[in-house]
Amino acid sequence: MVAVDTDTITADVASRLDRARAAATAAGVAALVITPGTTLRYLAGYDAVLSERLTALVLPAAGDPWLLVPRLERAAAAHSGAAGLGVEIRTWTETQDAVAVLAAGLAAGGVRDGDRVAVDDRMWAEKSLRLGAAAPGVHQVAAGALVDPLRMRKTAAEIEELARAGAAIDRVHARMGEWLRVGRTEREVAGDIAAAILDEGHAAVDFVIVASGPNSGSPHHHVSDRVVGVGDPVVVDIGGVLESGYRSDCTRTYTLGPPSAELAAVYAVLQRAQAVAVAAVAPGAVAGDLDETARAVLRDAGHGELFTHRLGHGIGLDGHEPPWIVDGDRTVVEAGFAFSIEPGCYDEDRWGARIEDIVVVTEQGVRPLNNRPHELAELPARTSPPPAERSPLPPRSSA
Ligand code: ZN
Ligand code: ZN
Repeated sequence: MVAVDTDTITADVASRLDRARAAATAAGVAALVITPGTTLRYLAGYDAVLSERLTALVLPAAGDPWLLVPRLERAAAAHSGAAGLGVEIRTWTETQDAVAVLAAGLAAGGVRDGDRVAVDDRMWAEKSLRLGAAAPGVHQVAAGALVDPLRMRKTAAEIEELARAGAAIDRVHARMGEWLRVGRTEREVAGDIAAAILDEGHAAVDFVIVASGPNSGSPHHHVSDRVVGVGDPVVVDIGGVLESGYRSDCTRTYTLGPPSAELAAVYAVLQRAQAVAVAAVAPGAVAGDLDETARAVLRDAGHGELFTHRLGHGIGLDGHEPPWIVDGDRTVVEAGFAFSIEPGCYDEDRWGARIEDIVVVTEQGVRPLNNRPHELAELPARTSPPPAERSPLPPRSSA
């Protein structure tokens, strides 16, 4: 396993403020206002606390960036990547109106009535509305249009982090037979998976979906106290977050014992649909066309109605981020884009199946970051061993 290449990621971050400023200038935006979240972490290397207290990175199109933080978080900001980038840190105190301080700072930096200011897509509405009241002549627009194109084009260092996360989640799937047993509840299985997500190298668990039997017919089922039974299909969709913030997301479908003939037949088509879509990924491919590539395979086999969601989503510092691989989306994918290819078939309240890999667009075509077998994974339909024989954290396999 490769060590975390934080130096390379840091080198990436150093150029991002310049690129965001260039995007703002090109779009005729006077300033960006970025509140805590993944865009703040992306642009300035500050993984700030999101709370009712306002924190905002201000990046004027013409001028130096500054970071407004609550006084009590000044030390945290000063030790973050933002300070390392030379971003000036300003504070507001508990008795000040932080939004008024922000508005005054924008005005002092040359933002005039009639100017457009791009605010973080996930800025709290309460903060955005108060900024509108404090600076009524300024037009607020969503910053995603400026920042998303930067975030979609991943550097080599970002892709290696995603690859490291992908390999870690593959190792968790490789161990599924240790925990996924007849007689255990989805919640018990999910608890073991969550421990393994950390054990295999993630800093945090992002999510765990264990959808067994009829629950597998609901794509975003989480977990329940349902006991896994003989012959059940089980959709396991799991992801974690590395220390660097980059994420994994991978789905495999298992059966406890042989699958029903119906599931096996549909799954064979689903597997072909997923493979065909992965093979179609290359620079110049259109997001909506990739969705159609998989959908056509299922439709032609008479299963089109069962595929009820988009084909995929981008991944990076967020688990779901642009590009959206969905019918009608005209985004042209480029080398460096990373996204999921995850067709699924769902017969609501009966059964479901999904296959999901993260892929990266390369100059040559495609590099899958998940590489576990894609077949319906049949685990033996044996019951779980008695509790006494189970250790809380199963030993690592050599896989
Ligand atoms: Zn997933
Ligand atoms: Zn996904």
